Amino acid sequence: MPDAAVVPAVAPNMPDWARARREFSWAAARRRLDGLPAGRGLNIAHEAVDRHVNAGRGGRVALRCINAGGLRRDITFAALKRSTNQFAAALEGLGTGPGDRVCVILGRTPELFTAALGALKARAVFAPLSAAYGPEPLAARIAIAEPRVIVTTQSLWRRKLAAVGSRLGNARVVIVRDEAPPAPHGLLGWHDVLKAAPATYRIGPTAPDDPALLHFTSGTTGAPKGALHVHDAVVGHHVTGLLALDLHADDVFWCTADPGGMVGTAYGIVAPLVCGVTSVVDEREFDADRWIRLVADEQVSVWYTTPTAIRRLMKLGVDVARSHDTSHLRLLSSVGEPLGPEAVAWGSRAFGLPVHDTWWQTETGGITIANVIAEEIRPGSMGRPLPGIEAAVVERLPGGAVRELPPGAQGEIALKPGWPSMCRGYLGASDRYAACFAGGWYLTGDLARRDEDGYFWFVGRVDDAITTAGHLVGPFEVESVLVEHPGVAEAGVIGKPDPAVHEIVKAFVALKDGVAGDEPLRRSILAHARRRLGAAIAPREIEFVTALPRTRSGTIMRRVLRARELGQSTGDLSALERPAVVA
Ligand code: AMP
Repeated sequence: MPDAAVVPAVAPNMPDWARARREFSWAAARRRLDGLPAGRGLNIAHEAVDRHVNAGRGGRVALRCINAGGLRRDITFAALKRSTNQFAAALEGLGTGPGDRVCVILGRTPELFTAALGALKARAVFAPLSAAYGPEPLAARIAIAEPRVIVTTQSLWRRKLAAVGSRLGNARVVIVRDEAPPAPHGLLGWHDVLKAAPATYRIGPTAPDDPALLHFTSGTTGAPKGALHVHDAVVGHHVTGLLALDLHADDVFWCTADPGGMVGTAYGIVAPLVCGVTSVVDEREFDADRWIRLVADEQVSVWYTTPTAIRRLMKLGVDVARSHDTSHLRLLSSVGEPLGPEAVAWGSRAFGLPVHDTWWQTETGGITIANVIAEEIRPGSMGRPLPGIEAAVVERLPGGAVRELPPGAQGEIALKPGWPSMCRGYLGASDRYAACFAGGWYLTGDLARRDEDGYFWFVGRVDDAITTAGHLVGPFEVESVLVEHPGVAEAGVIGKPDPAVHEIVKAFVALKDGVAGDEPLRRSILAHARRRLGAAIAPREIEFVTALPRTRSGTIMRRVLRARELGQSTGDLSALERPAVVA
């Protein structure tokens, strides 16, 4: 059972938030990193791995990997340096050069780290994609990334990529884990690619503004956006690892994020390595009971997870958590969706620690607003801006200006550009990137209120993007796949409030003339969506309607669907059964 008295006392990296904000400068933060030898620039992989080995810390465990069968394997910084050197050299052998994209679709495995950091050493752009996506979202993102190399497993290749092979361009595909690559596709084996590569590698000159990371995010309309980050982002990952996650050299850190998203890269890979801590890397999927045992068995001291995971743990009841020795845990943080006050309080009851909410998004590249360890938590609030981050709540005005709103008023969260992990563009979509800025602010698309003391309180999204179990889903992507089903005439997709995963993806579907909206058809549409989109994005619920509400110009009015959805719970089921055209 947790007992505050046995938690090792660790002095917080940021004992005084207000003072740290006053004294902070990004230039000073940058000086805390080494840079490449002989002034050759700044490279994320050097700061994450080689820097520690060069300083004599090569024997330290960087990764404690637990595989699907539960077997543990420790990987030191020195071993990670060798494997990433080899992969960097192997990539060069495959014709990959600076700026080329390397798409990686893997679970939380050692190869994920080797591929990510090896790509960064080769000055290629690491572009992870979620293994929870189906063939359609993967193909759409790969078409934008135009990778030189794709790294994945045989099983993912067979289930998700082989059928969309014609949309993968000229990418060479490397299959990890010794599975014999089937000859017809010309796939390459991981070990074949690595075996001829030397274990030494000299990272070429890397400018801080050279592209390094590509992560996809969704909005209301159009294709997914590929947010591009640069090597300088490592300065932000280091600082936020120290100040928001309070990482200390002897911490055991566990980030449970999907490696296909920005959290998986920034806090699953880069920040803990740059801070020199040991990360637990658990390949297995969520299991509430096992997760609590893992925190105890691995003596996890800092844990970064999602509100969805915390709510699922809450279902176990506090006694399960309290029956394990989780006394090494000293910080429990979450990100990705709103964390209600009851989840914050549950952390205190179960682990003797409140849950610390943090807020950020793919474009910010790292944590920007957080409840930090040494300051008061306001349960239900996302916390306050970190040092180096200027944040406001604003209103967009006609003509492209914005107005800062006073405390208490609801508006859009805006950030003053200038922090190093800020996304530098959307690949191939500079107009969409430019549209994110107004009046000298970056506009985040999230609505919030700020209180008198500067704490931010999340309200919702400006657009129709859906947040489900920590994934941001674009409704258009789902609607496009639903209308491919032979029975479907049109589809409108919204987020339906859900107590467990914040929102579920719900589709309103109008059928083609003469098609009966019965249970077998509903199941057939759900199965089609799941097969094409993958479990992370596919709708969980489908409701048949006769027509969708549209504006005169034909745009689906999702906010009308959302309002009707909320009305439904009070019994208003009939409204959508009529065709609706709204001006
Ligand atoms: P993504 O870009 O996929 O990482 O999704 C970022 C979005 O997730 C944000 O713009 C928010 O809408 C949501 N989000 C992230 N963290 C929080 C949080 N702590 N509270 C509420 N929403 C969050």
